[in-house]
Amino acid sequence: MSLGLIQEYEMKLSPPGCHPGANWYRVFIAMVNDISEVFPYLNADLKGLVDYDHQSKILLWSPGGKEKIEKIYAFRAHEIGITPISDRDEAKEFTGKIIDIVNDVWNRRGEIQPKFEGNRPLPSALDIYKLLPRTNCKECGFLTCMAFAVALRNDFNTLSLCTYMPEDAFLKLVSQEQ
Ligand code: SF4
Repeated sequence: MSLGLIQEYEMKLSPPGCHPGANWYRVFIAMVNDISEVFPYLNADLKGLVDYDHQSKILLWSPGGKEKIEKIYAFRAHEIGITPISDRDEAKEFTGKIIDIVNDVWNRRGEIQPKFEGNRPLPSALDIYKLLPRTNCKECGFLTCMAFAVALRNDFNTLSLCTYMPEDAFLKLVSQEQ
């Protein structure tokens, strides 16, 4: 039996930066190996709301679809983020589930037609900007929230730089059919 793509990882719980005192967390699953090769197969196989940027190597997934967004998964080359998470037990449960899903899709990739396209066209920088708190706190390394919005429009990889961005709202925005 194949061991799967993800064999070693580290799970970290992080409080939601934009809601101090809120009772939910984000989980970050960090991996040493690059898992982006599986993204086109996940993009083709996952059910629900999926969007993918092949160039930036970022894939967003909500299993419940647009009408029922309960969990958001953000896949990057060396990290999977899950939000919202209520506590450490739920973090462990969902970490185990998503590792199993990724490894299962990887092991079945010979039967899956990979899909490299995401949902296009991209939203405008202004639409992205409207999702941000607009505090210009500079924690992301950009001088303003608008500068970050422009960068994010061009490269989804920058999504993780702003911990205040609500990933569920961002996923809805990038997945809009136009
Ligand atoms: S985009 Fe950058 S400046 Fe704006 S809230 Fe997020 S971290 Fe702060």
